[in-house]
Amino acid sequence: MAETDFDVIVVGSGCAGGVAAYMAASAGKSVLVVERGNYAGAKNMTGGRIYSHSLKEVFPDFESEAPLERKITHERIAMMDTASNMTIDFTSAELAEEGKDSYSVLRGPFDQWLAEKAEEAGAEYICGIAVEELVKDESGRIIGVRAGEDEITSQVVILAEGTNSMLSERCLGNPRPKPSQMAVGIKQVFELPSGVIEDRFLLPEGEGAAMLFVGDCTKGRVGGGFLYTNKDSISLGLVATISTAADGANETPVYQMLEDFKRHPAVAPVIKGAKLVEHSGHMVPEGGYDMIPQYVFDGCLVAGETAGLCMNMGYQVRGMDFAVASGRMAAEAACEAIDKNDVSAAGLASYKDKMEGSFVIQDLRTFSKWPHVMEEWGSMFTDYPVMVKEIFNAMFSVDGQPQKPLVKRMMPIVKKRGLFKLAGEVRKAVKAL
Ligand SMILES: Cc1cc2nc3c(=O)[nH]c(=O)nc-3n(C[C@H](O)[C@H](O)[C@H](O)COP(=O)(O)OP(=O)(O)OC[C@H]3O[C@@H](n4cnc5c(N)ncnc54)[C@H](O)[C@@H]3O)c2cc1C
Repeated sequence: MAETDFDVIVVGSGCAGGVAAYMAASAGKSVLVVERGNYAGAKNMTGGRIYSHSLKEVFPDFESEAPLERKITHERIAMMDTASNMTIDFTSAELAEEGKDSYSVLRGPFDQWLAEKAEEAGAEYICGIAVEELVKDESGRIIGVRAGEDEITSQVVILAEGTNSMLSERCLGNPRPKPSQMAVGIKQVFELPSGVIEDRFLLPEGEGAAMLFVGDCTKGRVGGGFLYTNKDSISLGLVATISTAADGANETPVYQMLEDFKRHPAVAPVIKGAKLVEHSGHMVPEGGYDMIPQYVFDGCLVAGETAGLCMNMGYQVRGMDFAVASGRMAAEAACEAIDKNDVSAAGLASYKDKMEGSFVIQDLRTFSKWPHVMEEWGSMFTDYPVMVKEIFNAMFSVDGQPQKPLVKRMMPIVKKRGLFKLAGEVRKAVKAL
């Protein structure tokens, strides 16, 4: 095999790239990471909570080392119309069990920690410069990258540049995701003393809450709001489809949705008096299994969101655990191929086998119908929140007038939306879950 500058070049130092670099360097390979941000995490954003299982596989002591914010022990799902809100609040000891636990994170410190681990293992970093091209030999095999003036070669390139990857499209020929498969997320971080956060969210000391909202937060459009408690701050934001963001007829731009969301009676009290310290926006791939492109090439493996690995279930958002696991598997496959002296697509095919055999592809495949159900389930974002409000108003309001039996108060509310239509919608959703 021709002499190369490095064994492995990793493009991007997010969750997938940081882990891939750490794994390959720990296996004794020479590794270069090229990160366009001035430091790892500088440009990265998540909701966010990371499910820890895949992180633990790479860093068994992550809990004592990683800059985690809070262990999430309270799950809340909220349905809101313009001025009402119904929240399901769930907590159980199981949520905190090792292997099932999850943590809120802020990507600035978290990604820098991953990069430090990779550097400690021997990876070299170039930050503040973007890879502009994947370099190919005459046979079309990827043999390195071009970043600025430099052309740097490696036996394997691991492409982990996140979603909306120009390199995947331009240099690997993968298709551009459809607008219906992409969403836009915006988020603000509000500082509050930790004790105030615990009081406002009814949390034991050090524990955290995750909250997902549906309904008025996106003005009845497909999407939803999110809130995660950090140690001394709250991450609050929303995700809306690209079609909503680009729709000229949409009266409320996405940034205004967030402003209105912050003023909603269910949200305003929890951020009252908090200091806004960060504002960010990012694309989110939401097409699920159908948007996974080819991810094994001659000399190149694709990991994380560049491989479309993200899933928004409405009650659960996952991308970081997929990114960590795919980064690990890409590095393992790259090291095996280098050791066998065969970095062709056939030599690197164990990455596909590992991915197919893991929760990553299996979960995305299991829930492959869900994105289509959400896309077509307009009433979830409009009618349902209003219906829920009417049902709970009928249940809880006492005005001194003689009350009808509860079922007689509920039935007209449900019938207004069509009992069979509702049952059909719920059945379709349940089948996709
Ligand atoms: C609003 C929102 C909420 C979310 N909530 C959650 C959540 O709660 N839980 C969860 O698990 N997931 C969540 N996700 C998804 C999750 O954040 C992603 O799936 C995850 O960050 C993907 O990791 P990655 O390493 O593939 O990509 P990224 O983290 O995006 O990292 C890519 C890296 O590549 C760098 N880069 C890009 N282009 C180049 C280039 N040409 N050259 C060099 N470097 C480059 C970038 O600067 C970046 O550092 C959310 C996403 C959004 C936007």
